[in-house]
Amino acid sequence: MAIISSNVGDNDFSLRRKELRLVGSKIIPEEKLNNNNLNLSRPNTLKEFIGQEKLKSSLRIAIDASIYRKEPLEHTLLHGQPGLGKTTLAFLIAQEMNTKCRVATAPAIERPRDIVGLLLGLKEGEVLFIDEIHRLNRLTEELLYSAMEDFRLDLTIGANRGARCRTINLPRFTLIGATTKLASISAPLRDRFGISQKIEFYTYDELKKIISNFSLLINLNLDDEASYNLAKISRGTPRIALRLLRRIRDYAQVVKKTKVISVNLIKKALNSYQIDEKGLDSLDRQYLSFLNQNNNIPTGLDSIAAGLSDDSSMLEFVVEPYLIQLGFLIRTPRGRLLTALGKKYIESRNDNF
Ligand code: ADP
Repeated sequence: MAIISSNVGDNDFSLRRKELRLVGSKIIPEEKLNNNNLNLSRPNTLKEFIGQEKLKSSLRIAIDASIYRKEPLEHTLLHGQPGLGKTTLAFLIAQEMNTKCRVATAPAIERPRDIVGLLLGLKEGEVLFIDEIHRLNRLTEELLYSAMEDFRLDLTIGANRGARCRTINLPRFTLIGATTKLASISAPLRDRFGISQKIEFYTYDELKKIISNFSLLINLNLDDEASYNLAKISRGTPRIALRLLRRIRDYAQVVKKTKVISVNLIKKALNSYQIDEKGLDSLDRQYLSFLNQNNNIPTGLDSIAAGLSDDSSMLEFVVEPYLIQLGFLIRTPRGRLLTALGKKYIESRNDNF
């Protein structure tokens, strides 16, 4: 798999656009597979789910109350950046409710009959998880309103004068919606969720714990310093932390023939994927180089996107937050500006833009 391919220079934007980013939080193909290692990484109980303490405690109360009342959990909306654990939480909720979790993604629910089929296939108390719920089309969304509110499907059969309305009762179920774009969900849909929870980025200590647990599962020997180092460059995101760890394992097994992972080995492994000690990859560095070339003039996001031949929303939501967090970039009303720290960093690098 070409993640950050070594034969693609930082200048080759058209080729780079096709690459998969190791430090991007979006799912990559190997993570879609039913890969045992990846399943291992999913915690089995809410207690084992690391971090998100406030969210977990309010979910715990809601789950216990539902179990006590012998009712399904209220419809739940989970929002936050990709890779923070929304899908994992949906499975854990179903597990804690002692029921099944059926999974669908909104773009795959194209026709009304797709959502009707999903709803009719549910049994009493089951969980229906819809990922990227902000991408549901209007017809599907409207069918969901009565399904969520009254556990009822109002269908129109036939057309024009021959059209008839039919109501089908549904079992009581819990809809768990996940989204990275809360603002794109229509108000009527949002209002039908009884519980809405934001998943925050993880602290270094929480990520370190996730990394340590996973390294034990995949039989790697990582000391505290090494886990913490990896946590620091994982952008607050478990998916990135675990993905980097798997790539480090590849390097350790193939190049170094070892299971012992030191800070130095992590550095070498990540360098081989063109990720530097700050956890920046070639796209991040191109972004910084581009701004540096603009001689400290605030630059609009669209100009940067045009300069890098990239998508402005990708830069805004995926690349910039981490650069801001590192203190390399600031957003001003007139545009993006490199800080002195960012300038020093990029000028100390050998990458050519
Ligand atoms: P999302 O649905 O938000 O994109 P996922 O639930 O697919 O994210 O999580 C991505 C990966 O990170 C999975 O392998 C998952 O097991 C792991 N993960 C996420 N959150 C946690 C956590 N709090 N503790 C342990 N592992 C986690």
